[in-house]
Amino acid sequence: MVEFQLVGRGIRDARVLAAMRQVPREAFVASGLADLAYEDAPLPIAEGQTISQPFIVALMAEAAEIKARDRVLEVGTGSGYAAAVISRIAAKVFTIERYPALAQGAEARLREFGYDNIAVRTGDGTLGWPEEAPFDAILVTAGGPDAPPALKRQLAIGGRLIVPVGPGEREQRLLKLVRRGDDAFERKDLGGVLFVPLIGEQGWIESEVLARRRR
Ligand code: SAM
Repeated sequence: MVEFQLVGRGIRDARVLAAMRQVPREAFVASGLADLAYEDAPLPIAEGQTISQPFIVALMAEAAEIKARDRVLEVGTGSGYAAAVISRIAAKVFTIERYPALAQGAEARLREFGYDNIAVRTGDGTLGWPEEAPFDAILVTAGGPDAPPALKRQLAIGGRLIVPVGPGEREQRLLKLVRRGDDAFERKDLGGVLFVPLIGEQGWIESEVLARRRR
């Protein structure tokens, strides 16, 4: 997986590659899907959500330029896989999931495998985790209409926000925002991506997402 899907597609950060080698993805997918754990694809998890494709996890972690002393916020815990990968690079990871069952499942799995520098919380991640801010990096693993202002405010100066943004569920760009000052952000487009919707106060409205799907 690391050689073909990651190095082969240009992931170069040695810390990211080492972390991807260390974390067993099969532990984060449903037992019936373990055979597919190293495929180049997202896989279904509970609540109609997905565990991201390995390449996307690596791309986001590399873009976030995570260093050993960093405190990192992840929005969208899902299975806990990306949090586990980031935790092998950063000092501390804070991760928020809106579905209680996913947050609880991820927390139990992360404890079982001994990832002890990760805090998991159930809630609306578009509002961030203000008590623990500022963060050196924030990774959002669901796509919203725009970068949530609360997350921009919770970035340290020099901090990196990696977030999929787009007008619809099928048209997102992965953005990297680097905070250069109180209201100054450098913006880079990392390319087209496809994530499940970011639902919350500073994301999409759940009833509208469901209505769009019915149309
Ligand atoms: N990082 C995850 C992993 O490694 O398994 C993959 C996450 S999945 C692509 C996106 C997750 O974001 C879903 O579990 C979804 O429920 C969650 N999500 C969507 N909106 C959210 C919000 N406002 N706050 C927290 N989590 C949210």
